[in-house]
Amino acid sequence: MRKVLLVRFGEVYLKGLNRSSFLKILTDNVKKAVKGTGASVWLADSRIYVAEFEDMDDIVNRVKKVFGLYSVSPAYEVDKDFEEISKACLEVCKDLSGTFKVLARRSDKSFPINSMDMAVELGGRILDANSQLKVDVHKPEHKVCVEVRDHAYVYSGEIMAAGGLPMGTGGKAALLLSGGIDSPVAGYQIMRRGVRMCAIHFMSPPYTGELAREKVVTLAKMLAAYSGGMRVYMVPFTKCQLEIHEKCPEELGTLITRRFMMRIACKLAKDFGAQALVTGESLGQVASQTMEAIGCTDEISDIPVFRPLIGLDKIEIIRIAEKIGTYETSILPYEDCCTVFTPRHPMTRPKKSGMPKAEARLDIDALVDEAVAGTEKLIF
Ligand code: ATP
Ligand code: MG
Repeated sequence: MRKVLLVRFGEVYLKGLNRSSFLKILTDNVKKAVKGTGASVWLADSRIYVAEFEDMDDIVNRVKKVFGLYSVSPAYEVDKDFEEISKACLEVCKDLSGTFKVLARRSDKSFPINSMDMAVELGGRILDANSQLKVDVHKPEHKVCVEVRDHAYVYSGEIMAAGGLPMGTGGKAALLLSGGIDSPVAGYQIMRRGVRMCAIHFMSPPYTGELAREKVVTLAKMLAAYSGGMRVYMVPFTKCQLEIHEKCPEELGTLITRRFMMRIACKLAKDFGAQALVTGESLGQVASQTMEAIGCTDEISDIPVFRPLIGLDKIEIIRIAEKIGTYETSILPYEDCCTVFTPRHPMTRPKKSGMPKAEARLDIDALVDEAVAGTEKLIF
């Protein structure tokens, strides 16, 4: 009897001709996730298997974060021998209480006992061995699953994995990462679709401090754990902000700031080879996220801008942030460059046609080039 992790994949099933290349990438990504544990990983029978490891909890934690996976089940692998299967069932059930049902499946039809008989006999043995358990075939609390394939596998319970598509199958994008709650979640949502991501952060020292920078680095590292690494561009943004503050109408300050972020992000996206930008905007959340304001920032970008949170409420975004572990860091109270020069009365219905005039006193190209030239590249 040895411990194995059964790994089920999700949407990869929908892939037609590309399926085998998706599965190869997915299997490689599981291998990367367990690197250093000594575990072996293989693909067989529309499943991925992980075996030869010590610590099941550690393996589950690593594997369930891999994008493209639907769920995992810690299981026992035994020989195709009924007594061995029975022993594994008792082991799986030894700490369970409440109601249960045995679900047996025999894809190897040469196995001498059929699924129904196996379920009945195993159910009886489990009842004899564990007085805390009762049978309920309709709504059992525990499903004890037995699968007879190349070996026999016995398990109870299924842990949901990250879902999405395998990392590396969806191209590349650049995330505008602030220190707030929204942008890490936006990055996660797009990474989850198999997209490799770099992060771009705008900082305005001395108005934003070392702690704000550290916070963004921490968030980037958290995201990197899902994607197997991440490049982060730290953009010096003080000069742009000061010039905007001095030379542009106050009520358009935030919007013009965001247009500069887009211009600079588009250039850095090229450096990374990104085909799209990603932001954490949500419709109507603040003045710069009304439809009109988004129209004014969107027109700047020469590549598509993805806003995966556009239709979510803050409370829904927070729930995802908690799930992926970024929330506690995001709420640390360090200032963002956007908050430093916030206008008292930002315009909520700006017109695209008014923007060139509002930006007329700025040397846009020089400001953008200087910010790009001063950008620091970090790798996690
Ligand atoms: P968040 O919670 O992610 O900070 P927000 O609701 O505070 O978002 P804004 O400050 O208007 O909204 O920013 C909208 C989006 O612009 C952010 O989600 C992020 O993608 C990007 N952004 C804002 N500030 C920065 C920054 N300093 N560096 C990089 N991107 C930024
Ligand atoms: Mg913000």
